[in-house]
Amino acid sequence: MGGWMAGYGDFTPHPSLDVPLEQLRRATGALHERLRENYPFFHPRYAGQMLKPPHPAAVIGYVSAMLINPNNHALDGGPATGRMEKEVVAQLAAMFGYPEHLGHLTSSGTIANLEALFVARELHPGKAVAHSADAHYTHGRMCHVLGVESVAVPAAADGTMDLQALEETLRAGRIGTVVATAGTTGLGAVDPVHEIVVLCRRYGARVHVDAAYGGFFLLIADGTPAGVAAEPFAAIADCDSVVIDPHKHGLQPYGCGAVLFRDPGVARHYLHDSPYTYFTSDELHLGEISLECSRAGAAAAALWLTLQLLPLTPDGLGAVLRPGRRAALAWAGLIDASDELALFQRPQLDILSYFPARRSLSEVDRASAHVLNAGMRLPDAQSLFVATYTVDGASLAARGHRVTADVPSGRILRSVAMKPETEEHVPALHQQVLDLLAGT
Ligand SMILES: *Cc1c(COP(=O)(O)O)cnc(C)c1O
Repeated sequence: MGGWMAGYGDFTPHPSLDVPLEQLRRATGALHERLRENYPFFHPRYAGQMLKPPHPAAVIGYVSAMLINPNNHALDGGPATGRMEKEVVAQLAAMFGYPEHLGHLTSSGTIANLEALFVARELHPGKAVAHSADAHYTHGRMCHVLGVESVAVPAAADGTMDLQALEETLRAGRIGTVVATAGTTGLGAVDPVHEIVVLCRRYGARVHVDAAYGGFFLLIADGTPAGVAAEPFAAIADCDSVVIDPHKHGLQPYGCGAVLFRDPGVARHYLHDSPYTYFTSDELHLGEISLECSRAGAAAAALWLTLQLLPLTPDGLGAVLRPGRRAALAWAGLIDASDELALFQRPQLDILSYFPARRSLSEVDRASAHVLNAGMRLPDAQSLFVATYTVDGASLAARGHRVTADVPSGRILRSVAMKPETEEHVPALHQQVLDLLAGT
């Protein structure tokens, strides 16, 4: 890249940009000191939320392109990275089984879902959007932004959308689009997309799949015990749109979501004109089919380079997801076999929900909070980082747990096994939860 830059001839950076080297060194030192305030997302000891660093290839791709700082809004702003974006979006479309597609990267899953709901509104004006009560909270929020009514369909006992409740909602006739979630953020529950799509076609509703978290599990959705359920993921091919977050399970830094539509014709809903963009070609500019304007071309370069090395195949990126799935199953087995812990529900992906065996919900809450707080206060090399998930008496009872609901809601434990390294550490992580509980 240095060679390409040098080809344009030497020039002197403006002195206003100069900073004293010693000051830079000191400020950078202060920055690094401040960054220590983070939790160790990179380490197997961190088995909490859905966080992990990007793959080195993504870092190389991102930094390389960032030095040029292209803007993927238009091909004028980022010709090379704009083309890379079209390529990676085509790879995602092929993974989902879309024969044709319209799609682009976004700065997040929330914005990607907003775009899908925006198109949903344009196609079914005046109609409501239905999503599971366990769907991501931003669906209700974005419906509010769009001025669309949203309807929460109750979740069944395994955290997936209750189909009977969905059919009753559809029968009332005011639903234009149903959002199915392939991997809920809380429990990793996979809605039965294959059954939802059949119901929706019967009642004339569109289907959007929020696969922000779970989308890449399609690569290991082979129905084997160590894989995940095949049918819901295969059925995404029959749905109208899908959202996936490469910044979750695609090894990317934050700032990388994606939305894909099966019908390229939905481009007509994005029509706009501006006097200051779209100069150099008649080719499609990504800004013509997205609600956002500026977007980092570097994000496309990062994903492009990552997928060159870890393609969207069972042996490519799939091999990165499989150990996390095995880790969740192995950890679930250890919890099942222990007297001190119980599984809240069986993991459908790589997210584990479990709780200390106690008589009442207030005691479960207290013991869970202890594991959370005492675990992260231990010395670094002995620490444990988990997350919590708030449940109520009804959701415990629905899963057959006999816990007295003496308080309206309480916290249980939640661990996302999204790093492949977690698998090797499962026995130690489990033992540590037990050790922490012994102190309650
Ligand atoms: C994370 C997530 C979102 C929101 O995506 P962001 O990238 O955090 O904006 C939406 N839906 C699901 C299922 C998610 O897991």
